[in-house]
Parts: sequence; structure tokens; C-alpha cells
Amino acid sequence: MTDAQTLNTNQKPHRLHNFCAGPASLPTEVLLKAQAEMLDWHGKGVSVMEMSHRSKDYVEVAQQAEQSLRRLMDIPDNYKVLFLQGGATLQFSAIPLNLLDDGQQQGVADYLTTGAWSTKAIKEAKRYADLGLGQINEVATSKAGNFITVPPVSEWQMSESAQYFHYCANETIHGVQMFEPPQVDAPLIADMSSCILSEPVDVSKFGLIYAGAQKNIGPAGLVIVIVRDDLIGKASAWCPSLLDYANQANKDSMLNTPATYSWYLAGLVFEWLEAQGGLEAMAKLNRQKAELLYKTIDSTDFYHNNVDPQYRSIMNVPFTLKDASLDAQFLAEAEQAGLLNLKGHRDVGGMRASIYNAVSLESVQALCDFMSEFAHNNS
Ligand SMILES: *Cc1c(COP(=O)(O)O)cnc(C)c1O
Repeated sequence: MTDAQTLNTNQKPHRLHNFCAGPASLPTEVLLKAQAEMLDWHGKGVSVMEMSHRSKDYVEVAQQAEQSLRRLMDIPDNYKVLFLQGGATLQFSAIPLNLLDDGQQQGVADYLTTGAWSTKAIKEAKRYADLGLGQINEVATSKAGNFITVPPVSEWQMSESAQYFHYCANETIHGVQMFEPPQVDAPLIADMSSCILSEPVDVSKFGLIYAGAQKNIGPAGLVIVIVRDDLIGKASAWCPSLLDYANQANKDSMLNTPATYSWYLAGLVFEWLEAQGGLEAMAKLNRQKAELLYKTIDSTDFYHNNVDPQYRSIMNVPFTLKDASLDAQFLAEAEQAGLLNLKGHRDVGGMRASIYNAVSLESVQALCDFMSEFAHNNS
């Protein structure tokens, strides 16, 4: 046993219940493994952070992470998996620059707006349209109702022959999740930053899936792009080399120095997920956690979540207190009880509990117990 492991078996690590929306909680087992391997990775006398990304050892770390993700999500062979930088936000630019025709025959892309993140995605894409590089069509938005539901499909104004259809599968701030991929003819592009790996998805229904790592994958600094082969290789002349999916795919995401340590840690998280029984097992647990929390919210008029029940997120649960003047007291007492990062996003107010894969059922139970007691004491 290494020194690091001895240290931690003697003393249980001090770990509180962390409901942060991102960078979010990571599995304690994963952090312990990273700690044990930190100074001396596999007897090589260096840490993963100190290795050349071109070395045989690191290439193996990187490939194993990809293989593990491919097994977890059952990613078909005709999809590339890229490990890039710039977060999900830079993908808001990369997507139109790679997939939208900006030549004589201007292409059109369809965007569905269901919350803060899809709003940012279309805003960024429109910057290129404003420069004459393709056209952007918003098919529908639920903004008028403050993003508590998804506009009905019957109201979507689709383009004639869109080059892609973009949507956000889980709106992290508004707590609105689309569990079924929209049925559209154009290649489907999904921002899955806050719901990837929370349940199985049929990757073959998508043209491209992207996700920033710091919610459900690993540390910040990494974004994963899963893209179908036939969609790449047609980037705009304006697309920076680093954002060109074909370039990155040809160089195994190592066109320049990748986020090596975040990539390694993502690999440890994938391994951990496989050991938990994969995405079927995670989905079951995630449903259980979400049900418990929504039941606690709905069981009293002290708490409120106004999201359309069929779209209530199983990852990010915003809620308000009946009496907002109790917000500060709620947060202070929660923190004393070891329940961290429950303050809601400034756009929505109130509270938000993010209950990603690494947040255990025990943590959600502790939150629900606290909420019931707080409601009881302050009603
Ligand atoms: C967090 C988040 C983003 C932005 O991610 P960055 O890595 O900070 O760029 C985009 N979309 C969704 C759904 C998110 O949750």
C-alpha cells in the first residue's frame, strides 16, 4: 500500500455534501486514486502532469480514457471522440464554423431555445450569420414563460433544409431537461454539458454531442466532442485550425498540448462509472435521487419548483422558498449542516441543488432531511 492510501484509510477524508453546479463534485474514490498516483504514476517516478503528451505512457492514458468512454456510451465506430479545450462555450463558435456552409449557397442552421445556455449558443452563432457566414433560424423559444418548459413541437418553425439542429439537452440554470432527442431531419447537435453520462443515450441519433467536463466528467479545462465522421472536413475558411474538428481528429486531439491532467482524470471517472455498473445503473440511481428531492419540494408549500413536470431535470434542481426573506438563513444553516453550494443562479434566484453522478443518494437524503426540518422550524 502506498503512503497516500495508508494516510487515507487511517483517517476518513473530510468531504462535505457538495451541490455545486460546476466545477462540481467528483467521486471521492477517483480523487483518492489520483492522490495515490500523483507523485509517481505507475512507478514511472513522475506525475501525469509532468509527462509529455507525446510520450508512450501519456498516449496510453489518453487512449484508455477514450476507449472507456466509448464503452460507457456505446459510441459507434463512425464517430470521432475529441478531447478539446475552451469549454462548452467555445463549441458555440466551433459548431457553426465547422458545420454551416458560408459559401455561395449559404447554409441555414436551426436552434431551439429553452434556457440560458441555448440562448448563449444561438447568440454566438448569430455573430457569424451577421458577418454573412450562413444563416441562423430560431425555431422556437420558451423565453416568454421564463424558460420553465420546452415549446411544443407543433410550434417549431423549422427551416426547409437545415444543415443542423442545435438544442441543449439539459438547461443547467433553469433545470429543464429534454429526455428524448427531438425528431428532426437535420443532424442533431446537443449540448449535454450537464447531463452527459447521467443516463444512456443512443449516440447514433446525433450528429454531434458536446459537453464541458466540469459538471459530470472531470475537472474544468476539457470539453468532449463526439462527432459523426461525415460531418467533419468542411470547416469554413474562417475557422481557426484548433477549432477544426477534422484537424483535431487527424491529430488525436493533440494538434497542440491538450489539457493532459483533466483528460487523465476524466479517464479515472469513466473507469469509476464502469465499475458502478455503467450508465443504466447511474440512470437508476439518478432517478431515485431526483425523485426524492422533488418529492421533498412538492410535499409542502414551503418550497417550490415551477418547471413543467415532464421536463424537470434529474441533474439540476432549482427551487425557491415561499418566503424569500428566509433565503440567507436557509443557506447559512445548510452550510452549518455540511450542505454546500445551494445558492441558485443569479438569473433565477432561490436555490439550486446539482445532483450529478458523483453526488450520492446519502448526500441527497441529507439535503432532504435538512429541508424538511428547516420547513418545519420556519413554518
Ligand atoms: C456549464 C455549461 C456550459 C458552459 O461551459 P463552459 O465549460 O464554462 O464553457 C454550456 N452549456 C451547458 C449546458 C452548461 O451547463
